[in-house]
Amino acid sequence: VTGAALHAELAQLVGAEHVLAADAGSPYNSDASNRRELRGRADAVVLPGSAREVEAVVRWCYAHDVAMVPRGGGTGLTGGAVPTDGGVVLSLERLRAVRELEAGLWRMLPEAGVSTRDVQRLARENGLFFGPDPGASEQSQIGGNVATNAGGPHALKYGVTGAWVTGLEAVLAPGELVQIGGWASKDVAGYDVKDLLIGSEGTLGVITAVRLRLLPAREAQIAQVAFFATRAQGCAAMLAVTAAGIEAAAIDFADGAALAHVAGGYPGEVPAGAGFALLIEVDGTHEQARAHADEVEDLLGRDALAIDRAPDASVLWRWREGFNGVLSGVRGAKVSEDVSFPVERLQEGLERFEQLAAAQGLSSCTFGHGGDGNVHATVLVDPVDEAELQRARELGAELFALVGELGGSIAAEHGVGWLKRGLLESQWDERTLALHEQIKRAFDPKGLMNPGKKLARVPGAAS
Ligand SMILES: Cc1cc2nc3c(=O)[nH]c(=O)nc-3n(C[C@H](O)[C@H](O)[C@H](O)COP(=O)(O)OP(=O)(O)OC[C@H]3O[C@@H](n4cnc5c(N)ncnc54)[C@H](O)[C@@H]3O)c2cc1C
Repeated sequence: VTGAALHAELAQLVGAEHVLAADAGSPYNSDASNRRELRGRADAVVLPGSAREVEAVVRWCYAHDVAMVPRGGGTGLTGGAVPTDGGVVLSLERLRAVRELEAGLWRMLPEAGVSTRDVQRLARENGLFFGPDPGASEQSQIGGNVATNAGGPHALKYGVTGAWVTGLEAVLAPGELVQIGGWASKDVAGYDVKDLLIGSEGTLGVITAVRLRLLPAREAQIAQVAFFATRAQGCAAMLAVTAAGIEAAAIDFADGAALAHVAGGYPGEVPAGAGFALLIEVDGTHEQARAHADEVEDLLGRDALAIDRAPDASVLWRWREGFNGVLSGVRGAKVSEDVSFPVERLQEGLERFEQLAAAQGLSSCTFGHGGDGNVHATVLVDPVDEAELQRARELGAELFALVGELGGSIAAEHGVGWLKRGLLESQWDERTLALHEQIKRAFDPKGLMNPGKKLARVPGAAS
């Protein structure tokens, strides 16, 4: 079924005003990855208004062999929500109710389309705390966060999104609304199907609502920025904080090259000769946070060029949130790969990435969530220089090989989507890769749920 017939059938299910044409300029054809080659073309965009309508759309698509691409806020960075293969974009943006909020029980049940920022705000307004803080929180949705198992700086202490989920409501093929898990905080009754859906990037089912277990609000947070002359000192400092038993809420980093570009926006003075910076947040009660901040200062004071303590942590985080925009503006675009290394190999990973980039004649920098070994390995590029973009792609392949060698992951928090399809092959053994593919078939025997995404292996591709 295509064209007008497809639109007419979908309109029966959700109302004609909620079926959009996906013309060439439609924002539903791309995501935030900004890769020019990555624009899809949907046959239709459908905006169901309830979980039952999602169920009806999935059932209809499954019965008529029409592919579906679930879509949250479209802030993904790997092309997961891009309709690369046509089909129907199934946007969750109208599922915006918070069905339950029990402050005394530390619980919230938002529908998939509630923005991450609203989940954070509602938690705060009720004396609670939701830890995950991926960078595009105003636009990203809680359903998209669960579907990508999103992280962010505070994942260091508080875990990635999945750590906060006790249950999911989802529509599974061939079109059945199911409840997986519930409010029980201990539940080992079956295989962990909930955790299979978390991070499945729309390839196993459509998430319609999420049961979140929150924490009481933190009393105090103190953020510090420590500047070091060298990368070696900065990386050693991160390990020293852990070894000293200080449970930092977040430890983000910027290397010297990144720092040179973002120094202008720093709400203080970047010391001369700074070649590495750490943004460290500690929290707890007022006394605990102050004690931890003092410990960090004592510990790092010997090697650091300077340590700044911000009275308001959010000032430093706003600076950090600006990195993406500043770095993209330097040469018109950036190509940034989200990878992780074991923390003790982070320094080596960063050094060797820089060497590989230099050998390709590319201008590189690195930043990310250093406490988790999570690096956004970046090259600054001219977006119309095809030769340079090609070298950036080659560098990406070299980086993924390096990640494998050092025992890291080719996808730390942004998922696999379309851009990293097939790369898992270098990370997992044969038997586990086959299981990955069997799980996909068990959930989606017709292969209609976000086809082509999160593939462990690409059929026909050379290994
Ligand atoms: C400036 C910027 C900063 C960022 N910082 C971070 C960061 O710090 N940490 C981090 O982890 N990520 C970060 N991201 C990436 C992105 O915000 C996250 O991946 C986010 O979780 C995507 O949510 P979304 O709602 O926009 O999903 P989309 O981009 O719409 O979709 C992402 C994937 O999830 C699937 N999906 C979406 N909703 C559903 C659903 N309801 N059911 C089933 N599948 C679904 C889609 O099919 C797709 O495969 C950043 C992105 C930007 C642009």
